[in-house]
Amino acid sequence: MPAPAQRIKHVPPYLFAEIDKKRAAAVARGVDVISLGIGDPDLPTPQFVIERMQQAVANPQYHRYPDYEGSQAFREAACQFYRRRWGVVFDPQSQVMALIGSKEGLAHLIWAYVGPGDVALVPDPAYPVYRTHTLLAGGEPYPLPLIRENGFLPDLKAIPEEVARRAKLLFINYPNNPTGAVAPLSFYEEAVAFCRRYDILLVSDNAYSEITFDGYRAPSVFNVPGASEVAVEFWSLSKPFNMTGWRIAFAAGSSEAISALGIIKTNTDSGQFTAIQEAATAALTSPESERFVAELNEVYQRRRDLAVAGLRAIGLDASPMKGSFYLWVPVPAGHTSASFATLLLEQAGVVVTPGAAYGQYGEGYIRISLCVKEERLKEALRRIQKYVKV
Ligand code: PLP
Repeated sequence: MPAPAQRIKHVPPYLFAEIDKKRAAAVARGVDVISLGIGDPDLPTPQFVIERMQQAVANPQYHRYPDYEGSQAFREAACQFYRRRWGVVFDPQSQVMALIGSKEGLAHLIWAYVGPGDVALVPDPAYPVYRTHTLLAGGEPYPLPLIRENGFLPDLKAIPEEVARRAKLLFINYPNNPTGAVAPLSFYEEAVAFCRRYDILLVSDNAYSEITFDGYRAPSVFNVPGASEVAVEFWSLSKPFNMTGWRIAFAAGSSEAISALGIIKTNTDSGQFTAIQEAATAALTSPESERFVAELNEVYQRRRDLAVAGLRAIGLDASPMKGSFYLWVPVPAGHTSASFATLLLEQAGVVVTPGAAYGQYGEGYIRISLCVKEERLKEALRRIQKYVKV
């Protein structure tokens, strides 16, 4: 058996692995483990989307290879969504591409832009794909610390000139995974100006734009005039429509970025099943969708308030986030993120994610995902209160 390629060696082991082993051991011992670890919605996909899929799957035209860049109807639906939601207009032919989930698109975009000697400006902590694929592609991820004092926004002015000049990509993600932070339009303006100045492609990962609370509405990077010359945005149906298993998203914006991404994608995959795109088209265009998302957010907001109150009662410094379904909670003194996550699992049977899994600046935090029913969340908080000494 030959050794795998060198590039595999640059990929750090997932810190989740240790916790996962312990979780499996606890389950094997018969512990009723409650997982607040994974960001995977527990509620079902809207019924009208399922019904559209049931019809579409029977269409023999869809049993053949899909269009590489996505069906015309899906790309038009994506444009319609952006126009309605943010007042932004795209050309469906050149500025939109269907993806097999935004994870796929983000990973492939990196391969289209980053090679040896290139820098990618990557928030830390962050969704791991930005950093991992930069490493796999032979590039250099430059960490942008997201710290509480800065509202978990990167300080672009602190990036050394020499690094900015070598950078190809700048990743931003608000509402943010894992911190739950949101960004004002002024931050997007600053990021667009920065990327224009240094000739960098701005990559806005807007996976959580619809999951927001307390009346807050998240912007798109394209609310900044001229942003489509320097930016591409990833928008996924996974979170607002509980469709993580369906694998459907799209990229929109700079036609140059979309066409570069297309070169990697057409040589790698053959597009998403057209029936799935048709169901996703229904989600993007149906008048029922707004109510569906509003009700979903009410559920997450109730869970958020319950969790924040419960964690504070235990003595943890939890703050209610305005977006995403994650709470980013400082660990008690004397703990690392991994030791506290282990303690919660071993003493309370509750899985959370150690912040260090998202980067070095995630140390000192745990991430709590709200993708469980209220009853289970209450039970998790009860157990933590009973068994864990903070
Ligand atoms: N981006 C962020 C910030 C995420 O948290 C996730 C999933 O958790 C994704 C992208 C990927 O979403 P999907 O591939 O399901 O579209």
